[in-house]
Amino acid sequence: MLLEDLRRQVVNVGLEALERGVVHGTAGNMSVRDRASGLIAISPSGIPYPSVSPADVVIVDDQGKTIDGTRKPSSETPLHTMVMRARPDIAAIVHTHSHYSTVVSCIRPCLPAILTEVCLAVGDTIPVTRYGLTGTADFGESVVEVVTPETKAVIIKNHGLICFGKDFDEALLTAEIVEEAAKVYVHALAANGGREPDLVPAGLIPEMRERFLASYGQATPA
Ligand code: 13P
Ligand code: ZN
Repeated sequence: MLLEDLRRQVVNVGLEALERGVVHGTAGNMSVRDRASGLIAISPSGIPYPSVSPADVVIVDDQGKTIDGTRKPSSETPLHTMVMRARPDIAAIVHTHSHYSTVVSCIRPCLPAILTEVCLAVGDTIPVTRYGLTGTADFGESVVEVVTPETKAVIIKNHGLICFGKDFDEALLTAEIVEEAAKVYVHALAANGGREPDLVPAGLIPEMRERFLASYGQATPA
C-alpha cells in the first residue's frame, strides 16, 4: 500500500482526536504530507473515525488529484492542499468542528489573547476567516487569506477550526489548546455580562514567549 505509514497516522490521529473530544461523528478531517514525494494522505469523506482503515485513506497530490485509494477524499481536500501549498514548512493539518472555537467563529473577528498558554504555544490572537463556501476552493482561500508564515491555527467562520504543524502531534495539541482557550473566552464573556474579559497584556507576550521557548521543560540530555 502506497505510503502505508502516513495512512496509519491519519487513522490514528482521527481516533485520538475523537478520544480527546475535538471531533465528533464525521465532522473534521486530517492530512499529512510525505516530505520526500510531496504526496498527501488525507482522510476519506463521510466515514466515522472508528470505521476508517488505512486502505480508506486517500493519497492525493498537492493539487488534490487522487494518486492512490478507492475512497472519495475529504470534501475539504481543496482546503488542505491550498494550505499545504501556502505553507511548505508544515506537514500535518487537523480540521475540527470543536464546539467553543465554533462559537467564537460566530461572534468575533478573532480569538483574543485570553490565556497565557495559547499566547506562548500558538499565537497572541487566532484569526477568524470571512465566510467561505465549504468544500470549494473559496473555503480554502478564506483560510489562506489570513495565514502568515507563523500561523498555527485559524478559526473558520460559522464552521470550526484548522490547525497546522510539523506533525500530527503538534497540530492536534494546537487544536486542543485553542479549543480550551475558546472555552475559557466564551465562559469569561458570559461571566462578565457579555463585556470583553481581561486579556494577557500585549506588551509582555514577546518576552514571555522568548523565555518559554528558551527554557520551558527539561533540558535535553547532552
Ligand atoms: P469530510 O467528511 O468530507 O472530510 O467533511 C467533514 C467536514 O468537516 C466538512 O467541513
Ligand atoms: Zn468542516
